[in-house]
Amino acid sequence: MKEETVTIDGSIGEGGGQILRTSLALSMIMGRSLRMERIRAGRKKSGLQRQHLVALKAAQEISAATVQGAEIGSSEIQFAPGRVTGGTHNFSIGSAGSVALVLQTVLPALMIAGETSNLTLEGGTHNPRAPPVDFLERVFLPVLNRMGPTVTTSIERYGFYPVGGGCLHVNIEPVRKLARIDLIERGQIRESKATAIVACLPESIGHREVRFVKDNLDIYDLHVAVRQVVSPGPGNALFIEFVSDGITEIITSFGKRGVASETVAMDAVKEARRYIASGAPVGPYLADQLLIPMALANGGAFRTCQMTQHTLTNINVIKRFIDVNVEVRPIDDKVWHIEIG
Ligand code: AMP
Repeated sequence: MKEETVTIDGSIGEGGGQILRTSLALSMIMGRSLRMERIRAGRKKSGLQRQHLVALKAAQEISAATVQGAEIGSSEIQFAPGRVTGGTHNFSIGSAGSVALVLQTVLPALMIAGETSNLTLEGGTHNPRAPPVDFLERVFLPVLNRMGPTVTTSIERYGFYPVGGGCLHVNIEPVRKLARIDLIERGQIRESKATAIVACLPESIGHREVRFVKDNLDIYDLHVAVRQVVSPGPGNALFIEFVSDGITEIITSFGKRGVASETVAMDAVKEARRYIASGAPVGPYLADQLLIPMALANGGAFRTCQMTQHTLTNINVIKRFIDVNVEVRPIDDKVWHIEIG
């Protein structure tokens, strides 16, 4: 194990929160101290915001770390982890900050820890620019679980931006070493669904969204559903889900005040068309989220329909901590192949 501190410039690539989360996760796993500068310099409100501070404190709690710079607005931190231990933890973001992004920080270390973990996360469960809990449950975790750990979630309450107040329970049964996985073929799409969820808002919003998907996505056996969910504040999300032989993918679009339901649905339809046309199994978000597990497994490969800045940046950050080879090559103008190890 290398001993020296890893220094990461938080302004590289998209300069967002993922650089911080990946750095913290790998600092804990590799037992290497982290110094991070120019945190989230690429964002309008740079530095640590509440959700990032909770993620940092969550990492500190599970790894008995010594931390400097843990304050709102801080653009620089030092993080010296101790041993990672699982157990029961409660992480409350106290705003609509995403529970999934706090989980993204601690899960990699906890899924290979020596003990089971039971986490309760309070905050936003369905936030723009973060994995919604539906995506975690049906897209990301099933793939991760194929690599060895058993990670399950149960949602107690939905939380939407800006009120938040959601609650998610996560149980993590770790493994010592993750197994390699290859996601090259998507196979046949067996089931297609459009589901709208609404909280404290008229159900007609959801009906207009799924109707728009039905009318504009040329899938004759598309299942549609609208569900009212329990949340302290208003919210609306639309999911288009494809269950294929090799993988499940969920495309999400969030309802926004002043934006027509049809516009919300159109965003999801465009992304769904791109996913279908590419034939690749892995969507743009799962792509960046698969990189840490695959690097820890010391191998894996996948094909994705979009190469994002998040994926490229995550590869760079991972290489700073783990001595692993990552090859990225285009297959055609719609598909990229990423090979790790
Ligand atoms: P950042 O923008 O740096 O805070 O990182 C955002 C993270 O959320 C990345 O890991 C994205 O893959 C993930 N993410 C953003 N939007 C979605 C979405 N619609 N579905 C699934 N994951 C998402």
